[in-house]
Amino acid sequence: MVYADNAATTKISRTAINAMSTCMEENWGNPSSLYAFGQKAAEALQSARERIASCIGAEPGEIYFTSGGSEADNHAILSAAKNGAHKGKKHIISSAFEHHAVLHTLEKLEKEGFEVELLDVHENGMLSPEQVANAIREDTCLVTIMYANNEIGTILPIAQIGAICREQKIPFHTDAVQAIGHLPVDVRTQNIDMLSLSAHKFHGPKGIGALYVRRGIPLHNLIEGGAQERGKRAGTENLPAIVGMAAALEEACAQMSGHTEKLLLLRERLIAGLSRIPYAALNGDAKNRLPGNVSFCFEGVEGESLLLLLDDRGICASSGSACTSGSLDPSHVLLAIGRPHEVAHGSLRLTLDAENTMEDVEQILKAVPEIVEYLRNMSPLWKDKVSGKKAFIL
Ligand SMILES: *Cc1c(COP(=O)(O)O)cnc(C)c1O
Repeated sequence: MVYADNAATTKISRTAINAMSTCMEENWGNPSSLYAFGQKAAEALQSARERIASCIGAEPGEIYFTSGGSEADNHAILSAAKNGAHKGKKHIISSAFEHHAVLHTLEKLEKEGFEVELLDVHENGMLSPEQVANAIREDTCLVTIMYANNEIGTILPIAQIGAICREQKIPFHTDAVQAIGHLPVDVRTQNIDMLSLSAHKFHGPKGIGALYVRRGIPLHNLIEGGAQERGKRAGTENLPAIVGMAAALEEACAQMSGHTEKLLLLRERLIAGLSRIPYAALNGDAKNRLPGNVSFCFEGVEGESLLLLLDDRGICASSGSACTSGSLDPSHVLLAIGRPHEVAHGSLRLTLDAENTMEDVEQILKAVPEIVEYLRNMSPLWKDKVSGKKAFIL
């Protein structure tokens, strides 16, 4: 099998599995218990918090464990909105190509009377710090812009946006789920007030993540109950998952530069090969993108059919985001960068990891052009284009 869907999830690392099984077998106490065995669990919890904080330049007391990236996004945004409403500020700035965990939370707030302004994304999948600066108003209570896009892989100018928000004293949240463990992140120098991360996107376990909240930024309670997570999110901690996440993140950060170097070679070979297909276009900026991300649109092709035929050849890929697949709507990300509906339907996302090899890339490069040609030959629309009855778009 060629697994090329690492933006959807990654394979859990041996290091994370070992850390988790040791924790489950030897350190299964409750961190809130006062006896020594409970305190041993509390120490493992604290150590995980310290290690995760140190990987992003934060302090341990600024890390809140969550059930994943979606919960971290919800918690950060809802909390900032509540703080804003308290001061009569109900304007929120975000972008049109955020993850649904952000967009759907913002839609909920809109129904509650908040004004949400989604900034346009340029054709190359980028957005400028000036756009954020121009959108800021007296009553802006939150700016939330993703670090790197999960579909087209573009990396946003987070440090510059952070600097603008800090100067204007507006809380700045970033969904960094695709960046953490893959790009160097430092919440201090980048002026980030809140940041979401998720373990299963960097070879940790699923169902665990974290929200960083800068000291001084008030955070509302998400779950009422015990005093866990400083009372903000009650419930006995998922210690094995937390320990697994810390082990995975430390490893990902230690291996980052080597992996990036390898991934860039694979990515560039894949992009060069797929670019040779006629009426194909790379989505997102060619250079300013995640090292493992390759995203294309192929005119005259149905993305879902392409995926099924790739699956027949043992290649796991994605079309649009996993949440959008299965519905007939084209990806909101591809529409946001200006791809027409027809073209957006023919998208393919291949997200590589350092475990992928050049042989994997060659296998993909053999399969995709053949399948694209096969699907085009079956399409009446394509025949109309070839005969000149309809115009080509790409
Ligand atoms: C995967 C992902 C999420 C959701 O994270 P979960 O841990 O699966 O809830 C949020 N944002 C982005 C950008 C993602 O890629």
